[in-house]
Amino acid sequence: MNNQLYSNLIFELSRPGRMGSSLPKNDFPRHEMPVSLLREHAAELPECDEPTVVRHYTNHSGNNFGVDNGFYPLGSCTMKYNPKINDEIAGMRDFQNIHPLQPESTVQGSLTVTTMLRKILANLTGMDDFTLKPCAGAHGELTGLMIIRSYHESRQDTKRTKVIVPDSAHGTNPASAAVCGLEVVEVKSKDDGTVDLEDLATKLDDTVAAMMMTNPNTLGLFEHDIVRIVEMVHRCGGLMYYDGANLNPLLGVCRPGDMGFDVVHVNLHKTFSTPHGGGGPGSGPVGVRGPLSQFFPTVNPYHGNFLVELRALVYILTLGRENIKQVGPLATLNATYIKERLKDLYELPITALSKHEFVFNGLADKSTGVTTMDVAKRLLDFGFHAPTIYFPLLFHEAMMIEPTENESLETIDAFISVMRQIAQEAQEQPEQVKSAPHNTPIKRVDDVLAARQPILKFPESSTEMV
Ligand SMILES: *Cc1c(COP(=O)(O)O)cnc(C)c1O
Repeated sequence: MNNQLYSNLIFELSRPGRMGSSLPKNDFPRHEMPVSLLREHAAELPECDEPTVVRHYTNHSGNNFGVDNGFYPLGSCTMKYNPKINDEIAGMRDFQNIHPLQPESTVQGSLTVTTMLRKILANLTGMDDFTLKPCAGAHGELTGLMIIRSYHESRQDTKRTKVIVPDSAHGTNPASAAVCGLEVVEVKSKDDGTVDLEDLATKLDDTVAAMMMTNPNTLGLFEHDIVRIVEMVHRCGGLMYYDGANLNPLLGVCRPGDMGFDVVHVNLHKTFSTPHGGGGPGSGPVGVRGPLSQFFPTVNPYHGNFLVELRALVYILTLGRENIKQVGPLATLNATYIKERLKDLYELPITALSKHEFVFNGLADKSTGVTTMDVAKRLLDFGFHAPTIYFPLLFHEAMMIEPTENESLETIDAFISVMRQIAQEAQEQPEQVKSAPHNTPIKRVDDVLAARQPILKFPESSTEMV
C-alpha cells in the first residue's frame, strides 16, 4: 500500500533549495536573452530530493489499474494484453529516433513496416488499400465519411447528406457523421438486438450517403442479415461503412469486405493489442475498396502514430497466419463461457448466441436495490477492473463484458467466482456492495457532484510552495 508521506502533490513535497539533480558547471559564454522572451516571474517548480521524487511517482504509478495489473473486461474496448515484445521492438533506437521529414533514403525500413501493415490489414479485412494516418477509431470514422462524401461529390451526387446509424451504435458514429456535416438518421433494433430491416427500408432513398455499422454489433450479436442490409443500401446508392472496433471476433472467421462493406476503420489499439487508455496514442487506419482510395484525405500531415503501427505489425507477425485465426474463436469462447456461468444470477436480456462480448442488465434479483454501479465498484475491491457499465443505452442497468482471447481459464474462473460472490453479498449484506469500494485509495466518488461542479485543479493553497 502507498506511503502517505509521498502521496499528494509533488508541490506539497517541495522545500526551498532541495535538489535532486546536479548539472555540470556551465562554461559556455553567457548570452543575454531579449527581454520580450523572458519570464516575468520565476517558474514555480517543485524543489525535491531524488528519493522523494522517485517515491512520489512510484507510489502514484501503483494507484493505476492497467491490463498489466489485472483482468480488464471492458466491453466495446477490447482491452487485450499488450505483449512486451511489441514494446521492445518499438523501443529500438532506430525506430524511435526517426523524424517524418528525414530523407526517404534513410527511412526505407520504416516505410517497409507501414507498407507491410497496410497490406496485411487489407488482407485481414478484405479491402484493397489502407491509409494509416488517422490517430483513433473516431478519427478513422471521420476520415471514412470524408472519403464517402468526396465519392458522392465526385459524381455530382450532392443531395446525399444522410448517414444511417443503428440505435445500438457507439456514440462516436453519430458524432463523426455530425462533425462531417452529415445528418444522422437512426434505425431501430428489433427485440433480438439486431437491425430492424423494415425500419431500415423506410429510411432508404437517394439522400442516403452511407450506413455505418459494426458487426458483431455493440451487443456482441452477429448481424445475420448483413448481406441483405448491404444490398438494400447499395441499391439506393449509399455506401457501407464498417466500424472495425468489433473486428476481434471476426479474425480468422470472416471479413467485412466479404460482407460487402466499402470503407472500414480498424482500431489498432483494440484488435491489434497496442496499449490504450487515457486518450491515446491510438491508431485508426481506414481501408477502402477499389477506386475509393483516390479520395483518401489528408487528416494528418505525416504518417500517423508510427510506433503504434509498428507494435500492431509485431503483434500480427508474432501470431502468424495460423494463430491469428484463433483470435476470433477464442475471444468468443471466453465471452460465452462467462455468460453461461453467470446468467443464473445476472439478468441476460438477450439470450441469442453472442460473440466476443455480451450485455447483462444488472443483477437478476432487482429487489436488493444493488445496482450495476455497485457491482462495478465492488469488483475493484477484488482487483478486477469493472466492465463497461450503463452502455449500450438499450438497457437501464447495462453491464457489458468482454474478456478477450488472451486470458487464462484460471483468471476467467476467478472473475466468475467474484461476480457470484458479489451477487450473494447483494442478498446477504447489500450495504457491503452499495458502499464499495473499500480497498482502493479513493473510495466511492460522487459522480453527479463531479459532473455538476467539476474541480479540475487543486485549490491554490495546496500548490503554494511550503
Ligand atoms: C472504441 C470504439 C469506437 C471509437 O474508437 P476510438 O479509438 O476510441 O476513437 C467506435 N466504435 C466502437 C464500437 C468502439 O468500441
